[in-house]
Amino acid sequence: METIERKTLLYKSGLGFWCVNHVQGCSHGCLYPCYAFMMAKSYGRAADYGDWTKPRLVAEAASGARSESSPSSARRRARR
Ligand code: SF4
Repeated sequence: METIERKTLLYKSGLGFWCVNHVQGCSHGCLYPCYAFMMAKSYGRAADYGDWTKPRLVAEAASGARSESSPSSARRRARR
């Protein structure tokens, strides 16, 4: 599986909660409009649906999650 680099694994959703995103893309290939793909495309993370159906693991996902879940990281996120 290909890997990609990201600044963070944690994202604050538009609904007000935090999400962990360790993979970009999805190999399921659902035929109905995929909201995740549409969002990825609108933010430039997927060129087209074929690109989206090739999932990529975020490099250093495990170590990144450990450091981002530390108490000091949680305090920084709370200030945002
Ligand atoms: S992310 Fe998209 S393609 Fe993957 S299961 Fe969900 S709707 Fe289907």
